[in-house]
Amino acid sequence: MANCWPRSASWIHFCLGRPTKRIIANDVELWVSYLGVEEANAISGLCGIDVAKKKKISLVTLLTGLVSLSVALTLTILLLASYHSNRQSLFKTRFALNHSAATKISQTIDSLFQSMRAGLKYTGAYISVNHLSNEQELQKQLELLRLSGNFFNSITVVDETGLVRSVTPSSDGTVGQHITAEAADEALASRKPYISKPYTSSTGRRIVFMSEPLYDKDGVYRGFIGGSLYLQEDNILNMMFGKHNIDSDGSYFYIVSSDGHLLYHPDKSRIGEDNSANPVVQKVLRGGSGYDQVTNSHGIPFLSGYSPVPENGWGVIVQSPISVVYGELNRYIRTILFYTLVPFALLMITAIWLARRLARPFVSLANLASQLGRGERIVLPDIKHHWNREADLLTQTITMALNDLQKQTDQLAHAAMTDSLTGLTNRRTFESIMAQWTEKRQPFALIVMDIDRFKSINDTYGHQAGDEVLKHLARIVASSVRSNDVCCRYGGEEFVVLLPFTTAPDARITAERVRTAFETRENPLGIRPTISLGIAHYPSHAESAEMLFQRADHALYQAKEAGRNRTIVAD
Ligand code: GH3
Ligand code: MG
Ligand code: MG
Repeated sequence: MANCWPRSASWIHFCLGRPTKRIIANDVELWVSYLGVEEANAISGLCGIDVAKKKKISLVTLLTGLVSLSVALTLTILLLASYHSNRQSLFKTRFALNHSAATKISQTIDSLFQSMRAGLKYTGAYISVNHLSNEQELQKQLELLRLSGNFFNSITVVDETGLVRSVTPSSDGTVGQHITAEAADEALASRKPYISKPYTSSTGRRIVFMSEPLYDKDGVYRGFIGGSLYLQEDNILNMMFGKHNIDSDGSYFYIVSSDGHLLYHPDKSRIGEDNSANPVVQKVLRGGSGYDQVTNSHGIPFLSGYSPVPENGWGVIVQSPISVVYGELNRYIRTILFYTLVPFALLMITAIWLARRLARPFVSLANLASQLGRGERIVLPDIKHHWNREADLLTQTITMALNDLQKQTDQLAHAAMTDSLTGLTNRRTFESIMAQWTEKRQPFALIVMDIDRFKSINDTYGHQAGDEVLKHLARIVASSVRSNDVCCRYGGEEFVVLLPFTTAPDARITAERVRTAFETRENPLGIRPTISLGIAHYPSHAESAEMLFQRADHALYQAKEAGRNRTIVAD
């Protein structure tokens, strides 16, 4: 915008193709006030200026925004980084915990099955040598085994022909009958230690069955001794691990048989269910031990640890819902927020306060510059020292520069408005004031005066002496009028006075006072020159400033004609 302004008045004149008011300040708003929005827009378009000012961001807003943004971003990054690193470590911890728990449980089951098998083996060895034909003793030994270890829900002795020889508890009622279960057949045929897969018995029970072969002292095969676990009833697994083994956070474990069927599960109704499609079950049944993330049959994601049981080929899976980890993570983030929010808020407040303090000198300098740009008179503030070196230097330098500029502007403005010889206002100012008053239709009187035969004074005493007479008259005029009257040197030895709200007769009194004073008061040359005066009144003598001046000038001419040293009011 500034580049355009040195050519403003002529440029605008050129752009519009008709005279425009004189532009005295370099501000778009002034254009608009002088020319109207459309014309100002037309000119500004040619000059490359936006009259419709765009809203600019202030330095304070910018710094405050930047500080707030950086603090908010730092806090967000901190939270995100902690979230991700903690998420990873919580996952790892949970996987490790579940794997370790699965390993411990599988070891426990392994030991338990070794004990169960040992129980069967030793009781089997004892009865096969001594009591196979003694039914009472047989029953006693089985009862002893069942009640001492509580390992099995029932124990059966079957001879080599498949005939049930003894059962405990005796309420079973199958003694003397041939075995029917496929598992029992397999156990009999195998003649080796045997463990079945879960199956449903003729009585509708879900059963896992294990057996040890019986050999007499001659090494002849005499059948087997077998123990059954009733999976859906109270059994050794329930006794050891509880019936509804779910932690408060939703973690639990389950056991699968070697073919992937559920043997133990907190949800009893699921026992016997085929779970072999589960990827973790597949891994554990292949003998794997470790951890993984899986989704259960209800679509809930879990963090699982798994471990196989070598003794029986079973698998143990311990798992926690993933929501447990996220719950812990949320609690952790809330704790971080709790401890960091206050320091961050304090940091933000301090940073904003500092930013505003830093911006303050630049803001006031910018305001001063914009005032200057609008052509307003600026009031320079006291120079205050700033703690920031650059702000301090800038404030000092610019304030001093503005001070000088203001003085120069004042001097220029004063010079442009006044006459250098007499110190009275000049013709330009006079015309401008008269134009304003006539525009407002404000009544006033105009006195035009001219020194009589001034040329001869110049010729006689010299031009410098003539100047002294001019200054003398100026002093008399200024001291003879009211403070709100305007005295001007119109040019050469002609002076004018504008008297607001003054009638022609009153103006005549003032004019006569000036004339008499000039005539009678001692002047630097010691001579007594005279003046002639003409008076006209606005609006009674003329409707325009130009006409009014002509009327007063004509009256002055008449005064000259009539012999000079007199005052004449226009007709
Ligand atoms: P009249 O009574 O008809 O007014 O006679 P006059 O001699 O005053 O008339 P004229 O207008 O012919 O003379 C004006 C003179 O004023 C001419 C010029 O030398 C002189 N003059 C104009 N400006 C200045 C100035 O600034 N200083 C001095 N010393 N003389 C000036
Ligand atoms: Mg003259
Ligand atoms: Mg004259």
